[in-house]
Amino acid sequence: MVVPVPPPPLLASHVAVRAAASAISHGRRVLLNGDHPPQVAALGRGDWVKLICGASFEDAADVRNLSLVYTLAGVDCIDCAADASVVGAVNEGIEVAASIVPTVQRPWLMISVNDDCRDLHFRKAEFDPDDCPLDCSKPCEKVCPADAISLKHSMVDGERTLSDPLRGKYEGGVITERCYGCGRCLPVCPYDRIRAVSYVRDPTMTAELLKRDDVDAIEIHTTGKGTDMFNTLWDNLSGSINNVKLVAVSLPDIGESTVDLMNTIYTIMEPHFKGYNLWQLDGRPMSGDIGRGATRETVSFAAHVASMSERPPGFYQLAGGTNSYTVDYLKKAGLFQSSNWNSGTATSEMASSHQALIGGIAYGGYARKIVGRVLRKIPEQFGRVHIEDHPDHLLEALQEAMSLVGPVKGYIPSHSKPFMKQVDRQ
Ligand code: SF4
Ligand code: SF4
Repeated sequence: MVVPVPPPPLLASHVAVRAAASAISHGRRVLLNGDHPPQVAALGRGDWVKLICGASFEDAADVRNLSLVYTLAGVDCIDCAADASVVGAVNEGIEVAASIVPTVQRPWLMISVNDDCRDLHFRKAEFDPDDCPLDCSKPCEKVCPADAISLKHSMVDGERTLSDPLRGKYEGGVITERCYGCGRCLPVCPYDRIRAVSYVRDPTMTAELLKRDDVDAIEIHTTGKGTDMFNTLWDNLSGSINNVKLVAVSLPDIGESTVDLMNTIYTIMEPHFKGYNLWQLDGRPMSGDIGRGATRETVSFAAHVASMSERPPGFYQLAGGTNSYTVDYLKKAGLFQSSNWNSGTATSEMASSHQALIGGIAYGGYARKIVGRVLRKIPEQFGRVHIEDHPDHLLEALQEAMSLVGPVKGYIPSHSKPFMKQVDRQ
């Protein structure tokens, strides 16, 4: 029996990683946070950045490594599935980042839940590999951005079937914890074998998570199809909602009635919640990794909301289609760092409807894609990968992350360690 060889002790240090992360402190502008936490000051300046791990993405090993890298890159918030093991993975990533760079700012940890099972972020793909014809070229596997489908042609009755491609069967299927519900596999199956299974996060478990000291914020996804379900969820969470500092509401563009919906939701929340509130404008959900065009919808959603004088109080942030082009599109629309929030404003008077514009950007699929490429390069012979055990890969991943976070935060890249070129390498 071959006994796996443990990884060698760390010979290379994280000197280069510390040097790269220190570029953040040189580039960061003076905090105008008054009595408010630095994350809120970032929203006020318009340079808040959130990493979206994925409301349904539950691969703890990847979530841990992503959290580690993006904490070092200086994000203000990490948004993850409302699941205790995923929350633990985010916190572990943050702790490891702090052990490497002790001065790093701890991002807020946000859990994502839904009020309605029709929200696309809360579904999983599913199929039975026994139903897959062996002559299928497996387009589902190729199209999945999360490597969440794995199919192997297996032996039957001890007979090696690879010699006859039409004998045997497929084994495997959807790796449930990696599937985040993007839906791209559904239309490509030529045999219509894949179905989407939707779910709603359990409010009782969510309420328990909100009581934890290491959960700072919650995001409630709503579909815009009425507010009854939002109301019900809000009632269920009311006993623990004030344990968090920030409540975000993520919603799609539903046209002219969007701002009315937001005002109704604000009326539901306002009497019971004493913290900060944030509106996540979800332009084209789960599409940022697709390319340049994906970001147009979220920027036009932001422009639409910004043009509405009756929008409710709170900070505003982009998501859904965000990628390396988003800052440029926002600049062209005159919306980049357009928040003119007064840091001296009391929380209760926060951000009148004429003040709050775009407080920041949340990056999901694109953020995971650029760092995921580096993670996939690490040899897996030692089981679960801890990226900090591979300093060269950690540095490369950090540079990728900073290429996304840096333009929002105003980091100044040094000539000797430039941020990696921002291009979609499709
Ligand atoms: S829904 Fe998206 S993430 Fe899930 S298996 Fe299909 S392609 Fe992959
Ligand atoms: S595309 Fe459809 S039939 Fe082909 S392997 Fe995937 S799920 Fe099975």
